[in-house]
Amino acid sequence: MNKEKQCICQDTQRHFLFRAFDSLGLEDAQRELLLSSFRETRFSIPVVLHRDGRDTLCTFQGYRVQHNHARGPFKGGLRYHPEVNQGEVRALAQLMTWKTALIDIPFGGAKGGVTINPAELNKSELEVLTKRFIQKMEPLLGVHQDIPAPDMGTNAQVMAWILEEYSKTHGYTPGIVTGKPVELGGSQGREEATGFGVACVTRKVAGGMSLHLEDTRIVIQGFGNVGFHTAMTLARMGARVIALSDVRGAVHCEAGIDIEAARAHVAQTGWLEGLPGTEPLSNEAMLELPCHILIPAALEAVINCDNAGAIQAKVIIEAANMPVTHQADTELQERGIIVVPDILANAGGVLASYYEWVQNLQEFPWEHESVLRRLEQHLLRVYGEVSHHAEENETDLRTAAYELAIGRVNKAIQLRGF
Ligand code: NAD
Repeated sequence: MNKEKQCICQDTQRHFLFRAFDSLGLEDAQRELLLSSFRETRFSIPVVLHRDGRDTLCTFQGYRVQHNHARGPFKGGLRYHPEVNQGEVRALAQLMTWKTALIDIPFGGAKGGVTINPAELNKSELEVLTKRFIQKMEPLLGVHQDIPAPDMGTNAQVMAWILEEYSKTHGYTPGIVTGKPVELGGSQGREEATGFGVACVTRKVAGGMSLHLEDTRIVIQGFGNVGFHTAMTLARMGARVIALSDVRGAVHCEAGIDIEAARAHVAQTGWLEGLPGTEPLSNEAMLELPCHILIPAALEAVINCDNAGAIQAKVIIEAANMPVTHQADTELQERGIIVVPDILANAGGVLASYYEWVQNLQEFPWEHESVLRRLEQHLLRVYGEVSHHAEENETDLRTAAYELAIGRVNKAIQLRGF
């Protein structure tokens, strides 16, 4: 994320948090504790890279921010990206604390990362870098202490290297990391969990508005892991997805897009562009299409002061992290547009991570159907709690979600007495 976007996101996150702090009536000392990281560690990671016919020593910067563990072990992904820095990792670690608390799983929040462009390293260089990073981070980690997961620029293979490095000194420990390959104790259903959860929440919201999914016009921005699995699950549920997009642009078809055909087209050409039976559209125009439900599933801050007034959806489901800026959020609320916040809508991924950890502790893998059934029930229960809290307190879903999450963390801190 570039510096400008990072500032917008941090500003947005602070705004949402402070709104909830105010409505909860928290004192300054409580706010300070809730905002403080438990521990922030910076590592130097030296790796020898073979470039231009000679060996060159390169030292990369790595971070692990452990924000809060009042409710359970620290939990959060590792990001490999050229713009990773301590401020960004700190903000993302905080977000994990609120997300795990909102969905009421026994984890706290953490995040880590390395300032690197992973595309510039070959596979064995990435393996060396990852294992060296874990050697340095090892004293912080533990199945009941801190459990990493994938994030931008990392994947199941990186998690497998973490498992291997940690297991060298601790014995085979699959529960040390989530998002692993299924062959090494990863969970069935993890791959589609986030998008599947977004689709379940979308169906629930449509039902609450007395909309039949077949008649509900849905627009989805982004056709990567989250966007694709959201679209695919909604299509299986019978929904009508009228527009989809990727980084190149959008495609539109009022009668509904065949998601399987879109997937096949992307597999063949690399892009949605030119999908038979659809009209091309710009990403900006797509966000402003008349529709019932808009699902941003690509980037942060795509709905902002510039376009909030032009959004015609009745509901926005935040599948991406922070796709709506706080100024846009206020404008959308004034216009009566419902926003289901990211910490609720895209929590299916961290929920599946929790299930993976539980399966590892039990040494008992669950079946695919069982993972998805539990995930749907769990997420809809949380959606019900948030809706109920919002109605009771005459507030919006985002403030309700933050109030519930912060309240739980604050309560745990008080009970534990630190
Ligand atoms: P991804 O990299 O798999 O896919 C991103 C998609 O967005 C791609 O289709 C890409 O073409 C598209 N895109 C990029 N720039 C775009 C632009 N300017 N306009 C329109 N589309 C654009 O990423 P993902 O894993 O699907 O994650 C998407 C979002 O969801 C991110 O905000 C991520 O932080 C969030 N998220 C992901 C997960 C998860 O489990 N993957 C969990 C929680 C939140």
